[in-house]
Amino acid sequence: IDSKLPWVGTTIFTVMSKLAADCGAINLSQGFPDFQAEAALFDATLQAMSAGRNQYPPMAGVAELRTAIADKVAALYGADCDAEDEITVTAGATQAIFTAIAAFVRGGDEVIVFEPVYDSYVPAIETVGGKAVYAALRFPDYRPDWEQVRSLLSPRTRMIIINSPHNPTGSLFDADDLAALAELTRDTNIVLLADEVYEHIVFDGARHESVAAHPELAARSIVVSSFGKTYHITGWKIGYVLGPRELMREFRKVHQFNVFTVNTPCQLGIAEYMRDASRHLGLAAFYEGKRDFFRRQLGASRFELLPCRGTYFQLARYGAISDLPDQEFARWLTREVGVAVIPVSVFNHDGHDERVVRFCFAKQEATLAAAGERLRAI
Ligand code: PMP
Ligand code: GLN
Repeated sequence: IDSKLPWVGTTIFTVMSKLAADCGAINLSQGFPDFQAEAALFDATLQAMSAGRNQYPPMAGVAELRTAIADKVAALYGADCDAEDEITVTAGATQAIFTAIAAFVRGGDEVIVFEPVYDSYVPAIETVGGKAVYAALRFPDYRPDWEQVRSLLSPRTRMIIINSPHNPTGSLFDADDLAALAELTRDTNIVLLADEVYEHIVFDGARHESVAAHPELAARSIVVSSFGKTYHITGWKIGYVLGPRELMREFRKVHQFNVFTVNTPCQLGIAEYMRDASRHLGLAAFYEGKRDFFRRQLGASRFELLPCRGTYFQLARYGAISDLPDQEFARWLTREVGVAVIPVSVFNHDGHDERVVRFCFAKQEATLAAAGERLRAI
């Protein structure tokens, strides 16, 4: 077959989770919690089901959830989003990203992405005939270089995709980064796609600099979030996008024929649950505790830990343990040591390998301690 995506295989998250299961390894690869969400979320969802809310919701999402999202982003970011026209509920962030790219990127358009780049962006760009242009987040602090980004801009640049807090590196964009981005995109028609799925997971007193809080950028942006990350329900596949009405109108033209709508009772359950803001506001401290616990576990190991300012991922260099390329090392670690991780080079289009792997610490302390014991022994 004449593949549209000849270089694309199976996503690394599926590959490593399967290998972990096949080997009986502790799975610190794919990012998902191994603990349960709160019963209150399930109760609210069951209640919606029992009350007969089981048919198609409005195309953009149930009103209760869009209102709850509008209230959240107003409280957190001072964003004035109209729940009717400027918020759409999606089937997770992955669909939101794909739909946004399909809605705005034409054949031959260029899209600037930052490497290491989350693995769904470039296949989505190429599926619609766009071309990815790569800016670097440079090892070891993974900071953007705005002069490099300036040099990559062209009349064909249609979109820039940013991701902060950043998966896989755990780095953050700060206020100066958003200012630089605003300056670079001023007087252009570039659409910004801001992947903020880890918006509530930032550490050490840092603040998440949301594009939604930056009026100039927000005016040209689709901002993406995911309830999977925030409420420990990655398998529910529900997220949302924010955007000014002119952009949202285009987003919805595609969304309606892409998924049309998203699971009604789960939307209602989340809407009820998220009214208690402590549930998302408490997330940073919750995961900071896990980050610190996991870093202590690895303290006496031969892994060299890189900084982690946000997300639930910890990067580590393993050069003191092995000379293997990172993909081989990840497989060896899974098979022989019993801990599955993600090799970071898969997020670089040229396979550039810093010999760094990613651990997911969204796990119970017992899981992290068991992994720590194995990792200290090598
Ligand atoms: N973007 C990033 C940066 C992610 O880490 C993830 C999921 N881990 C997604 C998007 C996709 O989120 P969802 O599961 O809601 O589709
Ligand atoms: N985003 C999650 C991660 O980074 C995985 C999502 C997926 O499996 N597609 O691990």
